[in-house]
Amino acid sequence: MKVYISGKWVDEEDAVISVFDHGLLYGDGVFEGIRIYNSRVFLLEEHIDRLYDSAKAIALEIPMAKSEMMEAVAETCRANGLAEGYIRLVVTRGKGSLGLNPYLCSEPEVIIIAAKIQLYPRELYENGLKIVTVGTVRNHPEAINPRIKSLNYLNNVLAKIEAINAGCMECLMLNHKGEVAEASGDNVFAVRNGEIITPPSSCGALEGLTRNKVIELAQEAGLVVQERVMARYDLYVADEVFLTGTAAEIISVVEIDKRSIGSGEPGIITGKLADLYSAYAQSNGYQL
Ligand code: PMP
Repeated sequence: MKVYISGKWVDEEDAVISVFDHGLLYGDGVFEGIRIYNSRVFLLEEHIDRLYDSAKAIALEIPMAKSEMMEAVAETCRANGLAEGYIRLVVTRGKGSLGLNPYLCSEPEVIIIAAKIQLYPRELYENGLKIVTVGTVRNHPEAINPRIKSLNYLNNVLAKIEAINAGCMECLMLNHKGEVAEASGDNVFAVRNGEIITPPSSCGALEGLTRNKVIELAQEAGLVVQERVMARYDLYVADEVFLTGTAAEIISVVEIDKRSIGSGEPGIITGKLADLYSAYAQSNGYQL
C-alpha cells in the first residue's frame, strides 16, 4: 500500500510521523473519511471544503491549495489501484514541543491513506442495528463546535466503549441538555407519519455529508425533512430510525434501549433513501 505523507507517496512501512507531532500528543488536527465508489471519489469537493473549514476553525493553515489536495487524494487512490474503498485524510498540527502551544509547531503533516473498508456486516443492513443510549454526554457544542471534525475523538471513543460493553455496535449520544445529538460515528434520523426529522448541528451533531446528501435526495423525492431538537422519546415512538455516515452509509435502527422501533424491521422510507443514495453514489464523484 502506498501512503501519502506531506508531498510524497511512500510504502506503508515507511509511512511514519514524529512522536512530537501534536496530532499524536494532543489530538490537535483535523480529518475526513471519504468513499470511493465505481472509480470515483464521492463528494470529494464537499469533504475538502469541510476539512479546510475545520482547519480554519482551529487556526491550522493547510499548506496546500484545495485543488492540489483533491489531486493528491485522487493520486493516492490511483497509486493503490482502488475502484472501491475508503480514504482517510488527516492533517495534523505538525511537530512541536512538549508544550501545548500550536504556534511552536512546524509545518502541518498531510496524510492520505486509501484502503478497503467494511464497517458493518451485510446482514445488519438487512436486519437493522440494535443500539443503546450511553451515559457519555456529547461534547458541549460551545466547548468544541461539533462541526469541527477534529482528531480529538475521545468523547466518541468513550461512547463506543459503552456501546460495545452493552453488546451493541453503535449507540445514541445525548447532549448536556438530554437532547438527541448523534451516534458515536454517525448522524441519526427518525421518520414519523412520513416526515423525516434529524437534530440540528447545534444539538451536538457533526454536519455529516451523508446526512446532507440524504436530506437533499429525500426532498427531491418529495419527502418532508425537518431539522428539529429531538428527545429520546421522538426516537422511541418513531416509525423508522436510521443512521447515516460515510462508512456506514444508511443503516436502519430497529431497537433503542430495548424499545423496538416501528415494526421492529428496517423501514420502507429508510430502504427507499438507501436506494436513492446508492444510485447517486454510483454515478457521481471525482473521476479517477
Ligand atoms: N458524526 C460523527 C461523530 C462522525 O464521526 C461522522 C463520520 N463518521 C458522522 C457523524 C457522519 O458524517 P459523514 O456523513 O460526513 O461521514
